[in-house]
Amino acid sequence: MKNILISGASVAGPALAHWLARYGFTTTIVENAPGFRDGGYAVDFRGDAHLTVLRRMGILGEVEQARTGTGAMAYVNRDGKVQASMPADLFAGDVEILRGDLARILHRATRGTTEYVFGDSIASLDEDEDGVTVAFERSAPRRFDLVIGADGLHSNVRRLAFGPEERFVRDLGVHCAVFTVPNHLGLQYTGHVYRTGGQLASVYSARHNTEARAAFYFASPETDVHRRDVAGQQRILTERFAGTGWECDRLLAEMRNAPDFYFDSVGQVRMDTWSRGRVALLGDAAYCPSSLSGMGTGLAMVGAYVLAGELAAARGDHRVAYARYQDVLGEYAAGCQKMGDGVAKLMMPDSRFAVALLNRYYKLLPYLPGKNMAAKIARKTAEGIALPDYAGAATRPTC
Ligand SMILES: Cc1cc2nc3c(=O)[nH]c(=O)nc-3n(C[C@H](O)[C@H](O)[C@H](O)COP(=O)(O)OP(=O)(O)OC[C@H]3O[C@@H](n4cnc5c(N)ncnc54)[C@H](O)[C@@H]3O)c2cc1C
Repeated sequence: MKNILISGASVAGPALAHWLARYGFTTTIVENAPGFRDGGYAVDFRGDAHLTVLRRMGILGEVEQARTGTGAMAYVNRDGKVQASMPADLFAGDVEILRGDLARILHRATRGTTEYVFGDSIASLDEDEDGVTVAFERSAPRRFDLVIGADGLHSNVRRLAFGPEERFVRDLGVHCAVFTVPNHLGLQYTGHVYRTGGQLASVYSARHNTEARAAFYFASPETDVHRRDVAGQQRILTERFAGTGWECDRLLAEMRNAPDFYFDSVGQVRMDTWSRGRVALLGDAAYCPSSLSGMGTGLAMVGAYVLAGELAAARGDHRVAYARYQDVLGEYAAGCQKMGDGVAKLMMPDSRFAVALLNRYYKLLPYLPGKNMAAKIARKTAEGIALPDYAGAATRPTC
């Protein structure tokens, strides 16, 4: 039986483990966080491809139960006065769920069939004819047949197997931070968005209005703060948003007590090939479309479905399966990446005049003939793949 190591226990990794276990593979997930990671913004699933994958996984019901139910979003000025309202049906997908809730569902669904190793990371990969010897930062070395990097935008496996991040990550010049705050505005299935030149702050209700998420985006060149330096990241956010109006100061004060804190640059991953020998990449690690595309999580879930299905169909022959994985998913991933292009400028115009213009446009949008265009384009992109049916491939792989 093939023995597969997956790096990363967020969305793509556990989704892949789910399918691989169903097809009879043995899976281990190594995650560098010390335990399950909650937190993050709300993610959308839209259209047939996304919903079909969730249904075939048997988790659609659970995902629907945990849906955020967020409705219209209000665009406010620095005094909190509503300038425009964005109806939910303009941009929301079919099901919206907090990333942390989705990750928890996936973790629950796989922990009985997958070995989870938290608090560790791959240190080196040494491939030969029969497999890969993997050295870890903490645990003893082990042998695996295949290794999959599902470890996100700053993938460790990509660096080890393909080369430095700069070769594959296109920085979009924006940083983003998300954390949990009390729902002090009493928001009921809604959110407020406040734009200033080149920056955006927002808060929206979560978990049936019992809490809220604060999300900040700001245009910036790369920062030199380390990815694990939370204090440094919070300092940068404070420097950017303190005294800029609306609820920013209160949200920044609450940031210190938040149970979670996500901070990252917004980027896209562009690679000619997603595999090398016995190693392959999945999700953001391979083809991150950027968080501004609204497509990353759906794409990662579809990617996991296809990669596992092709491995099963090829009875574990990674040469055949990895090539097919890229053939089936390549155009779809490219389409999702297009959605991320250009959104940064549109989302955070850099002058006051442009912000006012955009608010005016949003005010009028519900009455304009093209009001559903953005939602239609997003749906068309999300549905732009004919999902192979791998049900017949659900046999045990050969060695
Ligand atoms: C806690 C958290 C919060 C997030 N919040 C947001 C958000 O608010 N907005 C947004 O745009 N995107 C967010 N994301 C990213 C979003 O989940 C992904 O863009 C998308 O869902 C695709 O998922 P993925 O599994 O491919 O990558 P990711 O969700 O990025 O998951 C990668 C996983 O790999 C782990 N990992 C990283 N390095 C190593 C290593 N060396 N060894 C082992 N494991 C490693 C990470 O801890 C993470 O669990 C968040 C991710 C996480 C982990």
